[in-house]
Amino acid sequence: MMEQTFVTAKIISNRLIGDAVRHLTVQPERQLDYEAGQFFLMRLRDDKGDYVERSYSASNFSNRESGIEFVIRIDPSGHLSPLVGRLAVGDTVDLKGPFGRFGLAMAKDLKKLVLIAGGVGISPIRSIIQKSFSLNEAYPIQLFYGFRNDNDFLFREELQKYASSGRLELVTTVSTNNGTRAEHGKGYIHLFLENRIFKPEAGVDCFICGPPAMVKETREKLLTLGFERGQIHLEAW
Ligand SMILES: Cc1cc2nc3c(=O)[nH]c(=O)nc-3n(C[C@H](O)[C@H](O)[C@H](O)COP(=O)(O)OP(=O)(O)OC[C@H]3O[C@@H](n4cnc5c(N)ncnc54)[C@H](O)[C@@H]3O)c2cc1C
Repeated sequence: MMEQTFVTAKIISNRLIGDAVRHLTVQPERQLDYEAGQFFLMRLRDDKGDYVERSYSASNFSNRESGIEFVIRIDPSGHLSPLVGRLAVGDTVDLKGPFGRFGLAMAKDLKKLVLIAGGVGISPIRSIIQKSFSLNEAYPIQLFYGFRNDNDFLFREELQKYASSGRLELVTTVSTNNGTRAEHGKGYIHLFLENRIFKPEAGVDCFICGPPAMVKETREKLLTLGFERGQIHLEAW
């Protein structure tokens, strides 16, 4: 296989969309095709001029015209993510990839799709939703999406629009008391699966993305609800 090299990508937009979350859109100078759910290695120079590299999932489904989108939580004590906040339109980052197998290809004979996202874990999940809606298939989708508070309900309008189509059922929960709205359940997302999630029959595949503790607990919950290991696909950061 040909070794991948970094490709320069220009910043098209860089917006704050949550309490400390950036929605970054970039246009690579050469086409980078990827599958929904995959990630790229992003490289930037820090203040000392040294390179720093981190992985970020694409949050949109491959789109040649509008570029690649990323959703990046800024960790003030981190190395790369605070640099993202300073990127202006026209600046560049380097991208290598795509990498990873997380995505619809992991599901065989898919009949029903369960997506479970924690925080910025919505990023590859959104890409998978966009791809699902672009296909000529009508498998029903459940999206269980947990976030800290209402400000971190990323892509609210887009997700509510998918839900209003009737094909996607949206369940949201908040894990803190700040800004709680009645529309969200209260507590961690894995506590809201029981009695709501599709029955664990053949053809039901579950994709989980979020922080390691959330992914671990959610996986354990799915196993106790009767899902087989092969029906559960994980991406933990
Ligand atoms: C496949 C994959 C996909 C990902 N996709 C996304 C995505 O879409 N969006 C997203 O926001 N993130 C994503 N991540 C996470 C991302 O790659 C980075 O880990 C994240 O942005 C933090 O990077 P950073 O350089 O800002 O922080 P880092 O410098 O990596 O630091 C992270 C934290 O560790 C602490 N730390 C660092 N060094 C030490 C040390 N020696 N001792 C103790 N603590 C330390 C820092 O203070 C900081 O709080 C993904 C990760 C993977 C593996």
